[in-house]
Amino acid sequence: MNLLRLASPFLLVFIAFPVLVIGTPSADKTLMTSAGVDVWAEFAGYRRDSVLESANIGEYDFYADHGKGIATNIVATPTDGGIKEEVPAKFRDRYERWKSELLSTEYGRAQWEKYATNKNFVLTIAVTGDRKKGAGTDKFLWDESGRFVGATITLGADLDEGYPNPIYYPVLNSLSSDSNTYSISGRILAATKISHEIGHVNQAATANMQFLQLQNKLMPEYISIFLKNGLNTKDKKLVELADQMGGTPVEIWESREYWSEVNAMLYLDARINKEDFYCHVFNKIRRNLETYARDYEPRFGQHPEFSASPCWK
Ligand SMILES: [Zn+2]
Repeated sequence: MNLLRLASPFLLVFIAFPVLVIGTPSADKTLMTSAGVDVWAEFAGYRRDSVLESANIGEYDFYADHGKGIATNIVATPTDGGIKEEVPAKFRDRYERWKSELLSTEYGRAQWEKYATNKNFVLTIAVTGDRKKGAGTDKFLWDESGRFVGATITLGADLDEGYPNPIYYPVLNSLSSDSNTYSISGRILAATKISHEIGHVNQAATANMQFLQLQNKLMPEYISIFLKNGLNTKDKKLVELADQMGGTPVEIWESREYWSEVNAMLYLDARINKEDFYCHVFNKIRRNLETYARDYEPRFGQHPEFSASPCWK
């Protein structure tokens, strides 16, 4: 698994795609290769729905828009900002349940308040049936002075179901129960996914707009060369491009995901640290990190919620 984990998801898809179509791969492989398909599809500019559905994978339909470049739109500075909720009446009840689960913790309230009280920032939160069990954050806005002033989080109407793969989503995946001894409510799952999404907004807030623009410009260039050069990441031009934009497209993408997973972990700690299943979940997060993402463990370890967890005793 580790070897596969180290390989670029670009490569995984080419190795594994035919297997998915013809064979019945093991559960792990399905997750692994679906993630690969997903990443590849995003970077290659294909809608993942069509790619995945034609491969009949079905199970994995999580972060559809993750991996897309961050577009840098320039707008006037808002003066009546805050959180704008765009929730159709038919999804209102469930949305309120997810939101109250998030706001039941101090951590969740602080994350929410940060945007709710900011008049110079518009955080739009939308719910749509199209996104199913997934979610995404996009429509990032900056003002003319380069200040980050807006973003949109879109939540699928079935956000309270579905667990993404353990490779890129070690925290969200930890909520999938592999025993019958306890069950974790879908509301907690949904609120954890929302915390992951807020993590993407927080990240954009600390990012440099010019650098994001540069990444946006160079990523498609990288992918187009990569797909034409026999998938050779050692290509001199690709090495140069990766240097300029601070990593390969996959490295940039996965780094964003793991930062958001830290946000998800912090919410989860606040919400479940008194629950019977707390250590079961946190041990699973740690196992997922050790198996797939050792390099990213320090991001979690820097927080006492993780490093000083009583579960490690
Ligand atoms: Zn994400």
